[in-house]
Amino acid sequence: MLKTSLLRLSESPTAKRIITRAPLSRGFAARFVAGDTLQEALDAARALNQAGLSVSLDFLGESVADRAEAEKAADMAVHILESITREGLNANLSIKPTQLGLDIDEAFCRRNVERVLSRARELGNGEGEIFVRMDMESSAYTERTIALVEGLWADGFRNVGTVLQSMLRRTADDVERLIRLGSRVRLVKGAYQEPDSVAFPDKADTDRMYVEEMKRLLEAGHYPAIATHDDAIIDATRRFVWERGIAKESFEFQMLYGVRRDLQTQLREEGYNVRVYVPFGDSWYPYLMRRLAERPANVLFMAGSVVKEARAGGKSLAKPVALGAGVVAGIAAVLAWRRGRR
Ligand SMILES: Cc1cc2nc3c(=O)[nH]c(=O)nc-3n(C[C@H](O)[C@H](O)[C@H](O)COP(=O)(O)OP(=O)(O)OC[C@H]3O[C@@H](n4cnc5c(N)ncnc54)[C@H](O)[C@@H]3O)c2cc1C
Repeated sequence: MLKTSLLRLSESPTAKRIITRAPLSRGFAARFVAGDTLQEALDAARALNQAGLSVSLDFLGESVADRAEAEKAADMAVHILESITREGLNANLSIKPTQLGLDIDEAFCRRNVERVLSRARELGNGEGEIFVRMDMESSAYTERTIALVEGLWADGFRNVGTVLQSMLRRTADDVERLIRLGSRVRLVKGAYQEPDSVAFPDKADTDRMYVEEMKRLLEAGHYPAIATHDDAIIDATRRFVWERGIAKESFEFQMLYGVRRDLQTQLREEGYNVRVYVPFGDSWYPYLMRRLAERPANVLFMAGSVVKEARAGGKSLAKPVALGAGVVAGIAAVLAWRRGRR
């Protein structure tokens, strides 16, 4: 129930106003977000590269309703690509279709994405053109995002791929569709609140489908990304590739910045390719709320770690931090209660 409430909070403008203005929310966000600026993200990427991990940079932002803002997001994407090349980083780019204008006008969004892909094609990062991943948003965008990738692919772009979510009932078919197309797929469980009509209400079904779809992509897909922090699924992947003799170079594991750093390093040491998704920018609110929803214990965990850091720095932040965590938990509880009454 807390998970549902946190996901609802991620879409609430009022909660956004309250939480982003709370003095310590930025401290909460810092666990999952590399920084406000591109330079901070590039520094984080370099440190990860030095540890043998590759990176996907993501300039935070979504649900853009203004053309100028969507164009600015495309400019930023180009700037990130140029910075990756200039700094010689082992990194690619993730973008969100609604950040580049999908809600405004599909043709306009496509022009923005094309501009980014064309620059990524010209630049290269030592392994040829830079790959650009279109993140998958809620199920309202699934068909349009896949169709966008298919259209770009038909026009000759090969440096684009997207994400499929095992929680959605349609995904097994979409896996086949993208295997036929030939584009890369990042497989995730899905981070959005979805109705039972389109998604499995039971997490066990999402997990079961993830394993089936993971196997299918490893057997027939094109450099798939197995994006999860789930130990059982990672073990199942290791076993499957070992049994089938699938080369470790033919796929990668992906994890989020700040989540299971131990596991990221361990997999790399075992010889797997591991990519870390590194978000940055000041539009971190919905991203942070989705991360809290994945593990509601994070609300308390983060409060605890901020207190620890503050104590180490000689500051007494225990009270305001507890208050911050209380605000998040309180708003979530009110939403859960209101929902229960409907
Ligand atoms: C690289 C990457 C890209 C992604 N891109 C998308 C996307 O485009 N669209 C989309 O809908 N979703 C995306 N996601 C999010 C994804 O859908 C899940 O919500 C998220 O990965 C949590 O699911 P899980 O597979 O880790 O399994 P879960 O069953 O949720 O978690 C398994 C275990 O992982 C750990 N864990 C998971 N999440 C957290 C967390 N936030 N903090 C601390 N520990 C945690 C916990 O130990 C937990 O017990 C992405 C995830 C990754 C890793």
